[in-house]
Amino acid sequence: MNCIFCKSESATSRSLEHIIPESIGNLEHVLPAGVVCDVCNSYFSTKVEKPLLDTPYMRDMCFRAHITNKKGHPPFVTGLHLQSRLPVAVCPSMEGGGLSIAALYQHDEQRWIRSILASEHGSLVIPVPAEPGEHLLSRFVAKVALEALAFRLMDVDGWNKEITEKCELDPLREYARRGQGPFWPLNTRLIHSADFLFVEADEEPYEVIHEWTFLYTPQHELYFVLSLFGNEYAINMGGPEIDGYGRWLSENKDRSPLYPEGLKSIEEGGGGDGVPPPHR
Ligand SMILES: [Zn+2]
Repeated sequence: MNCIFCKSESATSRSLEHIIPESIGNLEHVLPAGVVCDVCNSYFSTKVEKPLLDTPYMRDMCFRAHITNKKGHPPFVTGLHLQSRLPVAVCPSMEGGGLSIAALYQHDEQRWIRSILASEHGSLVIPVPAEPGEHLLSRFVAKVALEALAFRLMDVDGWNKEITEKCELDPLREYARRGQGPFWPLNTRLIHSADFLFVEADEEPYEVIHEWTFLYTPQHELYFVLSLFGNEYAINMGGPEIDGYGRWLSENKDRSPLYPEGLKSIEEGGGGDGVPPPHR
């Protein structure tokens, strides 16, 4: 076995690789030890995933999708209560829906309670965070793309050699693992809200945090398409240009390759004929 990124011999590696970080709810898409060596695994975890997950944007997405952290604590965003000028923490209420609001700092708690009791109305300001840096995001998507390819091919004999020896994938490998080479642009767009509810026959409605698919266009370009919290990110696996994806979209009614038949939620009157996602 050789690592799909650095190609070094990896039979003694012990770490499992979560294609999407475990902290945002991925327990299903995991690569066995050695597919990504321990050194690369640790590198991605500290230099790509953690900086990305620590951005206010990703914390906001976890809040919107109600994702608890590994310790079971609810996600929260910070805001400002205008009347008391106190910073507050807002988190989804675990029981009965709604939001729970508390003073961000414990030493403000009494002031916060007095201020709430003193007036019936108030205003809360919650900043909308900027999207994470493009370079970090595109390296993350490049990493997920190669790992998703390994995940898909893993049952085929000789898959490891096939991926590690494919020189066409080397530029993407180097970009994901070392940030080298030109910037790889993504095609980014919102395809559903973070708390969008999917419906399928005889199933409880469910949210989808992440899913992916591959798109091979008639022009023989291979794109990896990832949805994360309803944001669709597409990357060209063969080279750092993305125009072909835009052309494909315009020729296909702008429908996501993830949902070729369109999306259907409860609000749109779904319930029985919802489109099953390719990966959940
Ligand atoms: Zn490696």
